[in-house]
Amino acid sequence: MPRGNQAPRQTEMNQMIKIDGSKGEGGGQILRTSLSLSLITGTAFQITGIRAGRRKPGLLRQHLTAVNAAAEIGEAETEGANLGSTELTFSPKAIRAGDYRFSIGSAGNAMLAIQTVLPALMMADKPSKLTVEGGTHNPAAPPFDFLKKTFLPQLHRIGPEVVLEIERPGFFPAGGGLVHAEIRPAPVLRPIKLLDRGAVLSQRARCLISKIPPDVAKKELRVVRNRLSLSEDQCTTEIISNSPGPGNVLLVEIECEHVTEVISAYGERGVKSEWVAKNAARAARDYLETEAPVGEHLADQLLLPMAVAGGGEFKTGLLSQHTLTNIETIRLFLPMEIEVEEFSQSQRIVRIDRQLSAANTVD
Ligand code: AMP
Repeated sequence: MPRGNQAPRQTEMNQMIKIDGSKGEGGGQILRTSLSLSLITGTAFQITGIRAGRRKPGLLRQHLTAVNAAAEIGEAETEGANLGSTELTFSPKAIRAGDYRFSIGSAGNAMLAIQTVLPALMMADKPSKLTVEGGTHNPAAPPFDFLKKTFLPQLHRIGPEVVLEIERPGFFPAGGGLVHAEIRPAPVLRPIKLLDRGAVLSQRARCLISKIPPDVAKKELRVVRNRLSLSEDQCTTEIISNSPGPGNVLLVEIECEHVTEVISAYGERGVKSEWVAKNAARAARDYLETEAPVGEHLADQLLLPMAVAGGGEFKTGLLSQHTLTNIETIRLFLPMEIEVEEFSQSQRIVRIDRQLSAANTVD
């Protein structure tokens, strides 16, 4: 890690961490977390079984873009950085701040590519700009709104400032969204706690539609309004005119004193609007009932910046496979204690702390 509260870069130690990408969740996150941590620790890694747990294993365009972006920013040498590849070797040198532009070339999610290189750029010696073209609202990935309203405010508390703007949304399958990020590093990263969400300040539902009949939005909003007891004013339709393809996403935003949760559900051909809306409303109610500030997705995404900051603590619900797998991947790169306390039947507290011994375990 190059700055402030940092462990020694490990290139000097000539280590190559070996990672089995099929373990646990077996998805793209093992690869992305490895890229992020390889950049900031300077440790090379070799991963096999990339996305072995997915229907189409190996590097898809979005994963390859993340690899290439990380390689460019970290001046890394790579082997196996090809579409469909299930093995990759990644050996980084120094992190270079700069003005970068990456294109996924499909509807693959741009947010995940940004998240991959964010830890490196937020610890660089100068600010950076990042423009990424691709999907901004994809199922099974954080939508733009989640990154901006849920993830980045917590990152800001840790130290770095990231301004994220959307020029146009991109939906599956056409993609073509465009997002800009400005990353201002912080000299020192602070461990944060997120144990309490505070009062719920506001709730709203937003339905984004592109090139589909506005009736869909009406139906979806009617269901969430009833199920979450929202007023008309709390429900808005946003008609997107600058996205290349059709799309429909329903976003429920729950703004609390210390955190904002963004829940997303996607309309699809052949899927009833009512069903999409019921799913979003159920997820919103689950979040409110669990009372933990950190929802399922923020939990797995917050681990990395907290670990990089040298510590942190948060309360969440039952841990997802993504969270458990991310804990294991982080442990391969950083000498951190990550402890999970059973706070109640449905709540867990995750504590991340620097290990007293700096010894790291590698294969
Ligand atoms: P993977 O499946 O391994 O490629 O990882 C997917 C990532 O996307 C994980 O960090 C998930 O938490 C995140 N993710 C999936 N769905 C959502 C969602 N609806 N909102 C926010 N993040 C999500």
